[in-house]
Amino acid sequence: MGEVMLDSPGRRAFLMAGAALALSGCVPGSAMAGNARPSSATGTAGPAPGPSASDVLRQHSDRVPEPAVPTRERVITRFSGRIPSYWGLEAPQVLTTLPTSPAGTALTLDFCGGSGGSSIDSALIDMLRRLGVPATLFLNGRWIAANPGLARDLAADPLFELANHGTNHYPLSVNGASAYGIFGTEGPGSVYDEIMANDAVLTDLTGERPRFFRPGTAYLDNVAAEICLALDLIPAGFSINGDGGSTYTAASVAAETAAAGPGDIIIAHGNHPESGTGPGLAEAVTSLLAQGRTFTTLGNAVPKPPH
Ligand SMILES: [Zn+2]
Repeated sequence: MGEVMLDSPGRRAFLMAGAALALSGCVPGSAMAGNARPSSATGTAGPAPGPSASDVLRQHSDRVPEPAVPTRERVITRFSGRIPSYWGLEAPQVLTTLPTSPAGTALTLDFCGGSGGSSIDSALIDMLRRLGVPATLFLNGRWIAANPGLARDLAADPLFELANHGTNHYPLSVNGASAYGIFGTEGPGSVYDEIMANDAVLTDLTGERPRFFRPGTAYLDNVAAEICLALDLIPAGFSINGDGGSTYTAASVAAETAAAGPGDIIIAHGNHPESGTGPGLAEAVTSLLAQGRTFTTLGNAVPKPPH
């Protein structure tokens, strides 16, 4: 398997071939209880008499509204009836490489949960901490539900950015398309639920909304990608398949990851300590650092849009 991918003529061919093997291990499991979105923070009252100019400015800035996130009903109204024209890993507007230049390399780790695995590769996390390598961690709602303490620990570490890997790990579809035999969401309303229930959980964990969403299996259609963007989330793909859905040997993980260049987004998994992912990433990351390569989170590489 590794040889086939390594010998593929181009990265894109590799990606498409690899993805079929790579992500099929992630399957949705039992539904996770939905969570109500937390109410938005409210300003605190200042001292009554004579506010200074800086107080006025601060209070004004406190009142700048958060960007409006459409409600479930509004998403349904806006996107119902849309027929998707694309289904796969790289829908239009999906982030597959970093936009900044010169850019670091982004390491992204998925934590799929459910039957996709609710463990944590502690040795991998320890390695990243020891070497000071930032990473974007895509947490699925089922994984968080199984590991609330670990989720809080990761959320508290400024080295890591938490991102949304879906509530139930469904492929993100507006018409029930499937990937690897896994049925996707069935309409704009279920797309909203798959995104926003876990969005609320992550917001509770970190104190701010995540900026990136990667569906279970990483499959989505172009309308679902638009819904992500409407919900102020960037749909995130990848350009380097680092671990083939936790199936690669450590040697293959090291070889694939070491091929990453500046601007690449590596996908691998943080929920399979028994796999070759951790040892392979340790070898590759050490080598890349020795070459002077820098790593970045997605959030640090992708500018926030003005609101
Ligand atoms: Zn996954």
